[in-house]
Amino acid sequence: MEMKLGRPMPSGESKTRSVTILGSTGSVGRNTLDLIERSPDSFHVDVLTGHVNVDLLIAQARAFRPKLAVIAAEEKYATLKDGLAGTGVEVAAGASALADAAACPTDFVMAAIVGIAGLEPTLTAARRGAIVGLANKECLVCAGDFLISEVEKGGGRLIPVDSEHNAIFQVFDFAEDQSVEKLILTASGGPFRSLDRDQMIHVTPAQAVAHPNWDMGAKISVDSATMMNKGLELIEAYYLFPVTEDQIEILVHPQSVVHSMVAYLDGSVLAQMGTPDMRTPISFALGWPKRMPTPSRRLDFAAIGNLTFEAPDMTRFPALRIAREALRAGGAAPIVLNAANEVAVARFLSGGLKFLEIARVVEDALSRSNESAPVCIEDVAGIDATARRLAVDIIAAV
Ligand code: NAD
Ligand code: MG
Repeated sequence: MEMKLGRPMPSGESKTRSVTILGSTGSVGRNTLDLIERSPDSFHVDVLTGHVNVDLLIAQARAFRPKLAVIAAEEKYATLKDGLAGTGVEVAAGASALADAAACPTDFVMAAIVGIAGLEPTLTAARRGAIVGLANKECLVCAGDFLISEVEKGGGRLIPVDSEHNAIFQVFDFAEDQSVEKLILTASGGPFRSLDRDQMIHVTPAQAVAHPNWDMGAKISVDSATMMNKGLELIEAYYLFPVTEDQIEILVHPQSVVHSMVAYLDGSVLAQMGTPDMRTPISFALGWPKRMPTPSRRLDFAAIGNLTFEAPDMTRFPALRIAREALRAGGAAPIVLNAANEVAVARFLSGGLKFLEIARVVEDALSRSNESAPVCIEDVAGIDATARRLAVDIIAAV
């Protein structure tokens, strides 16, 4: 079968790959720049974007000298302009500037904005046929079919950066997809893997963002703690790979060494492994179709000793069940799931919602929403906005 994720590498690409990083000030963005800095002959950075952290964006632009630096928060425009005066770096601010940034003709775009805010620029990059390294899972959850179809129409390529999907991408036999029995998505279980529900009642944002294995942005860290992250990744996997929902299994693996697996009908199971360092999957996308060196710590199996696996607990982590139900329901449900989760996580992080309420708000929003399925990509934003208002109302009543 034809690979679902687009055609081979666009022809005419020069030896040095030009790069756009959407969300360069975040965790994935910073790791991407770290790799580029180590392979200066292979890449040049043309476009960087950030949201509010203007000082870091200025420092990055001074170091990498892109053509364009964009800050999403308009009130930071003057600071950015002053900070980059005399460097020759063009500066811009606001949502439309973000879309313009994605439209700049570069070979590769790292889609590393968090949340549905990254959807519009990612679609823009897909439409112009760029190779898109996709970290921003919320894009696929909210607009999976639309995004994949834009990639195909644009003639570019989508390379999954999320470590589990990157792992599956590395071991999935696209030429023999009918021989795939199932995908096994591994999950660390997050910081609260062994807490019972009573102990989870009082956990703080600081405890939730302290992930045992991965160093990530605040939102995805909270998602890992509720295990909504694995729920979002279930939906992400469904859109990325030619499998049905019931062919995707979730397995808790606390060491985060096996990043995910593909099981075939002959009983073989292929896994991709590595230490938990995002620079490995990021490098796979950045250099695709070639592998590139990374400083990621190497696996020492003898030192690790044991790899363990356990079934996920849907009672302590209801987000897993809720996300699977949203995928089964289809239509607007994954958009509502994502929107309510974004609102609830933001509220938890600012101290206005208890940890266990996050999944409850999402479930409530799903049961109260009566949105119909999006017919076109423009419908997605409307469903998202309505679901956000609904989540805000639900939280107000908590
Ligand atoms: P982060 O919070 O560290 O960074 C997010 C980036 O998005 C920042 O550059 C920020 O400026 C930008 N941003 C945020 N809101 C924005 C807005 N409204 N408009 C424009 N830009 C905005 O997040 P992260 O951990 O780097 O994660 C980024 C994405 O990658 C998420 O979708 C996450 O789920 C996914 N991901 C991250 C990791 C990881 O290791 N961090 C692993 C797998 C997947
Ligand atoms: Mg992941």
